[in-house]
Amino acid sequence: MRCTECKKGDTKVIDSRDDEKTIRRRRECLTCGYRFTTYEKIELPAIRIEKRDGRIENYDCGKIKSGILRSLEKRPVDEIAICNLIDDIEHEIIMLGKKVVPSVEVGEIVSEKLRKIDDVAYLRFISVYKSFSSAKSFASEAKKLVSKNTRK
Ligand SMILES: [Zn+2]
Repeated sequence: MRCTECKKGDTKVIDSRDDEKTIRRRRECLTCGYRFTTYEKIELPAIRIEKRDGRIENYDCGKIKSGILRSLEKRPVDEIAICNLIDDIEHEIIMLGKKVVPSVEVGEIVSEKLRKIDDVAYLRFISVYKSFSSAKSFASEAKKLVSKNTRK
């Protein structure tokens, strides 16, 4: 696997641990020494998603991915970071340990992860997922984000 930091180096696995559902691998870049963690699925348990209107669907990682890609369109986030992000999100969904996960919870996980990566993508995502009723509520969310960042 390629290094997520320098994008050049190959990585070696320095630690590997698995629980029932995922293998967690600690990797180190052979070029720059950067360390990161990946999660690999052993087998995705049959998770189903409960939609807001009560309908139940099979979990479809393609849907999450397309939502994320739409939010990240033209943003300076590379493919490797997106792959890791999706793995990360799936991992958290699995870790909930639920057979049926409300779509709202999935949305929370995705938006929380996106917020850490890219503010614009986060706002785009929540504008769809929270389906803001007005421009005002969208603006207030954006404002919250700005004040959070300036406090840092
Ligand atoms: Zn590297």
